[in-house]
Amino acid sequence: MAEPIIRAQQVEKFYSQPSENRIQVISPTDLSIVPGEIVALLGPSGSGKSTLLRMLAGLSQPSAGEVYWHGKPISTVQINVSIVFQSFALFPWLTVLENVEAPLKARGMAAAERRERSLKILDTVGLDGFQAAYPKELSGGMRQRVGFARALVVEPEVLFMDEPFSALDVLTAENLRSELLELWQKKTIPTQAIFIVTHNIEEAVLLADRIIVLGRNPGHVRTDFKVTNLVHPRDRKSPAFTQLVDYIYKVLTRPDVSPAEMPRLQPGRRNVRDQRQMHYEMLPHARPGGIAGLLELIIDLGGRADIYKLADELAFEIDDLLPIVEAASLLKFLKVEEGDVNITPAGHEFAESEILKQKELFHKAALENVLLLRQITRALSNKSDHTVPEEFFLDMLDEQFSEEETQRQLETAINWGRYAELFDFDAGRRRFILPEVEEPSEETEEVTSE
Ligand code: ADP
Ligand code: MG
Repeated sequence: MAEPIIRAQQVEKFYSQPSENRIQVISPTDLSIVPGEIVALLGPSGSGKSTLLRMLAGLSQPSAGEVYWHGKPISTVQINVSIVFQSFALFPWLTVLENVEAPLKARGMAAAERRERSLKILDTVGLDGFQAAYPKELSGGMRQRVGFARALVVEPEVLFMDEPFSALDVLTAENLRSELLELWQKKTIPTQAIFIVTHNIEEAVLLADRIIVLGRNPGHVRTDFKVTNLVHPRDRKSPAFTQLVDYIYKVLTRPDVSPAEMPRLQPGRRNVRDQRQMHYEMLPHARPGGIAGLLELIIDLGGRADIYKLADELAFEIDDLLPIVEAASLLKFLKVEEGDVNITPAGHEFAESEILKQKELFHKAALENVLLLRQITRALSNKSDHTVPEEFFLDMLDEQFSEEETQRQLETAINWGRYAELFDFDAGRRRFILPEVEEPSEETEEVTSE
């Protein structure tokens, strides 16, 4: 094995408490990062992924043990790493170019060189032409690109990423992910190793040469293995891919069973598939009104449109349009095929209906196609008092999403659920409630009107 760039030896993290008892967040852990690898770190939320990343990146000191950089204690040497976080702390008062130049300036690089390097990296990550824009003028996806540019401009030997794609909608994330992979594989960037924390099993299997799964209470490595039987670009539908996803899914959902006891390859057997489908699909953050508006536009265009052209015509950033397209396709109002969107009969009916009928159709589509809404509704109708605390669903979702994304998922679910009159949410008590079932009063009205 190559000499590690970073090697953690028996690192631990604990926090002291006034009550003498200390909280152990990471139990003694050995872990190395070697050149040539993309390492993905998976684990349930709160298992210490971010804590471990911060120690490996030299951002936080271990409570015990030592982290070495090329064999020397990390606190004693100059290290060359950068970190991409889920939401980029871009400086709002600086332009895109100035944001990217900032870390070079901090390292004391001369102005001309710093400008040249920054312009080059902006070009590399597809931000050519956006130098003078301010962060607030950019969509989430574009802001993320600035974050990547800022991390890459210092030519880090190790690039750390903490859930870098989890705040993005699915298509934008997919796009950025494959672009990053391409930069890495073509060696356009001199980075020697990438260490990515993620919630997303498929993302790990798509990118990583090595996968580490953390368990919690306290954080510890449950399994650490190389991905040997998949070549890039990886095909999500290949049996080797889905088997590995299934395996990791099983490891994560069975914290009580040692991964060593779970068969990793099961030729011909796909018995965990059903469970995996229970996995939440990420709700795109779109409003029901926005979905209806998009469908109307597409009907005007003859029921079919090219997404990119549509974005262009509407002067929409594609990253802003995609969540609406995704929401409509999740509800089966639209079908997306090779960049074209086609309206479905259900979508047609929804868009052309009156508001009350629209709510009814949305209600039906949501229950049929959105697992989370179905679960909330079912939980509410099964409880005798027809109310369930928000936390119940937060706990379920945070196994899969980051904390911030978990909140956004529930916000969107509440938005859709209210619109469809599936349930209501009491923000004061933080509880979901089933709306009072009103006695149908139409009949009496009919009687009186006669
Ligand atoms: P992950 O990234 O896997 O979600 P984190 O590394 O953020 O997990 O956190 C791991 C655990 O450490 C959590 O249970 C968190 O509550 C705890 N923790 C983090 N920071 C502190 C702190 N300053 N004091 C006490 N506990 C902390
Ligand atoms: Mg974290």
